[in-house]
Amino acid sequence: MAPRITYEQSSEQIRELWDRVDAAREARGGEAELDGYRELLDHPCAHHQVVDHEVLDEIHQVLRRLDRYDEAIQAKREAIDAGYRSTPDPEADIAECLVEAGLRAEADALFAELRRRDPDEVWLYNSAGWAYSRVDDQKALRWLLDGIQVALKTGDPDQVIGQLLDMTRDCWDRVGAAHDAEMIARVEVFQRDWVRPPYRSRSLGKPSRLDEPKQRCAHCGFDPDLPPSSAVTAAKSRAVEAPAKMVLSLAWFPADEWRLAMERWPDLLDELPADHAEYSQRIEARLKWMSKLTPGQALTVSPLSVNELDETEGENAGSGEGRSRLAAEIALTGRALRWPPSRNDACWCGSGRKYKKCCGPTPPAEDRP
Ligand SMILES: [Zn+2]
Ligand SMILES: [Zn+2]
Repeated sequence: MAPRITYEQSSEQIRELWDRVDAAREARGGEAELDGYRELLDHPCAHHQVVDHEVLDEIHQVLRRLDRYDEAIQAKREAIDAGYRSTPDPEADIAECLVEAGLRAEADALFAELRRRDPDEVWLYNSAGWAYSRVDDQKALRWLLDGIQVALKTGDPDQVIGQLLDMTRDCWDRVGAAHDAEMIARVEVFQRDWVRPPYRSRSLGKPSRLDEPKQRCAHCGFDPDLPPSSAVTAAKSRAVEAPAKMVLSLAWFPADEWRLAMERWPDLLDELPADHAEYSQRIEARLKWMSKLTPGQALTVSPLSVNELDETEGENAGSGEGRSRLAAEIALTGRALRWPPSRNDACWCGSGRKYKKCCGPTPPAEDRP
């Protein structure tokens, strides 16, 4: 049977549906946004055009904003079944919903279970501390203080400890407790001397539907073995032919170091924005640009420090060459950050937000940066 529509028409319809949900979200039209997501999931081409677990997660978030907790939890469970993964465990979102719904016993039990499963996941303590804040500040405090201990013990790979301490201070203020000056000092020393610990692999569970081999589509004629666009074909064949891995790593200053670097070498600001989030987005744009040029090539980000530049590069510490050389050295010694993180993981830039809500949406740089 001949396809009903072309692949291009299918892509156009999917794009229009996404535009509709975006417009509904901007207009805070919760119901219209939900309808749009459901239409996306029901589209005959959804199996090759839509990442169902991401759409289900969006549905979860809208329902939660509308205080429809039962349905929100249901949507999250469907998202997890469809392959949704996140840090912390996506069930932490369900536990947060249970707190918001006032189902405290169930929430307590689920948070406790998640902690048994992965006691070293700092993000879980962040989630529970946030969920219980203002609802039960004593319980929030216990989670936050435990989280700080876990961060100190594990080396805090995602730099969550600052957020945990901020929330702890707010809790102390609300319950009228004295601030623990000794602990604050310990955290501040830890933050000052922080070095990224070795990468800790997290279990990712089963792959999402779009990662599985795609099926032919009777509706639009899409054939996974015959990519419709020549650009995709070219990218694919180049990826297959890519030579043995060499490490490509981009130099980048984490927030604290960026402040020091700007003071030390003000001419950095000729090319780059002072705001650290904007600066990181600029790096993200370059990474996307590089990844388009070198399909199949692993890319990483090398976090530079002004001290290490001084120590290894001496007079050349402030030069682009010096930064590139140190970036390569950091990558070779296994200290670079993997890029890109998965959408639901913490952003590589250290903002503490999910990649999809932080640097993820940044488009690639246009020309040679
Ligand atoms: Zn199709
Ligand atoms: Zn970011």
